[in-house]
Amino acid sequence: MSRDYDVVIIGAGMVGASLACALAPSGLRIAVVEAVTLKNDQQPSYDDRGLTLSLSSKRILEHIGVWENVLPAVNPIKKIHVSEQGRFGFMHLDAAQTDKDELGHVVVARSLGQALHKQMLSYENITLICPAELKCFKQSEAGMSVELSHAGHSELITAGLLVGADGSQSLVRRLAAINTKEHDFKQTAIVANVSTQKPNLATAFERFTHHGPVALLPIDKNRSVLVFTVAAEDAVRYMSMTEKQFIEAVETEFGRRLGKLEHIGQRRSYPIIFIEAVEQYKQQLILLGNAAHSIHPNSAQGFNLGLRDVSGLAECVFAAIEKGVDVDDISILENYIKLRLPDQQRVMRFTNRLASSFYNKNPLLIPARNLAMLMLDTMPAVKETFIQQAMGIAGLQPRVVRGQQI
Ligand SMILES: Cc1cc2nc3c(=O)[nH]c(=O)nc-3n(C[C@H](O)[C@H](O)[C@H](O)COP(=O)(O)OP(=O)(O)OC[C@H]3O[C@@H](n4cnc5c(N)ncnc54)[C@H](O)[C@@H]3O)c2cc1C
Repeated sequence: MSRDYDVVIIGAGMVGASLACALAPSGLRIAVVEAVTLKNDQQPSYDDRGLTLSLSSKRILEHIGVWENVLPAVNPIKKIHVSEQGRFGFMHLDAAQTDKDELGHVVVARSLGQALHKQMLSYENITLICPAELKCFKQSEAGMSVELSHAGHSELITAGLLVGADGSQSLVRRLAAINTKEHDFKQTAIVANVSTQKPNLATAFERFTHHGPVALLPIDKNRSVLVFTVAAEDAVRYMSMTEKQFIEAVETEFGRRLGKLEHIGQRRSYPIIFIEAVEQYKQQLILLGNAAHSIHPNSAQGFNLGLRDVSGLAECVFAAIEKGVDVDDISILENYIKLRLPDQQRVMRFTNRLASSFYNKNPLLIPARNLAMLMLDTMPAVKETFIQQAMGIAGLQPRVVRGQQI
């Protein structure tokens, strides 16, 4: 029986749209189903959040033809300064000490969304079905039968592979009866654009405070994106402060490294909950991005990890096509997990440990944390390993991340 599409991707957020672009050159017929239009202010993936893109993400976005579109909107990170409020330990990373021109880039999620959708719409073999919502799916002889609600009607489409890239509350995951491990950090990240008195000199700052990390990511000479993490119970209070009160609160935690904070734009809040799907695939079904693992934003790794997963899945699909294996074959998903699980586990372990160690008030841990930061700062070999991990190029990685073709 013929199918409508080879691959149906639920969610055209950062991860779903990237996967469509990564698979398109194979000639597979791809449908991308998205509930919220790109122009809608409520689009959950593409708001005014500043995202740090690692070197691995740059390489993947270059490979899928998106980097050129996003380039006018990215800002390099040349230096990273990490510190802990009230403690002596700090760490300073500088691109000048590496063989790279920069340590990463910052892009506003909305600009990345525009670049991804521009590239996605340039492929004739990608059909964007939007606004449309997944309702349910079942396996049939033809593959996956997927029921959508589209323009007020119910629509049925069939595919060889169903991809759940529908975010942390994934309906695909729920309908597939895949369980999750969850941990509520009881923290909320408040994100806003800030203008600063002094230029940021392409420096990203991360400061660990008693209520969570405060990050300032450079997006222009005197503009940065603030990610201010607070205890969940205090979020409403911070969100309802006047601009002047909020500036004072941020300056109390962050200090005046960039002079006075002159203006803070609209604030958005994001509750922080760790979610890991205990299984990532079933016959003809795979979870990607936040649907597979939603992690703490403390080390700015969520999308970078999701994009490496995209690249890994594309690599396995291309290898299968070359051998004449159909896209519905479970061996593709088995190979994908073998390739990607070690990196996923490493990043999840790292972000969870970082989250718990900095909020742990155990006095015995404080000297250990400071020592760890000093070691990272002063021991070149340790620092180099750390930089490679932050850049997403350490360990076994997809070929594109290693600078090879697929
Ligand atoms: C404060 C904060 C800062 C962050 N900073 C960074 C950073 O600096 N670097 C980094 O790498 N990561 C960062 N992240 C993580 C990053 O935002 C996520 O990893 C990324 O958004 C995951 O993308 P996604 O496409 O998997 O999910 P989402 O962005 O949630 O997209 C899911 C999409 O699916 C659609 N959808 C949902 N349900 C349905 C349905 N039933 N039918 C159709 N469509 C549906 C939604 O409308 C949405 O467009 C940050 C996260 C937060 C909260």
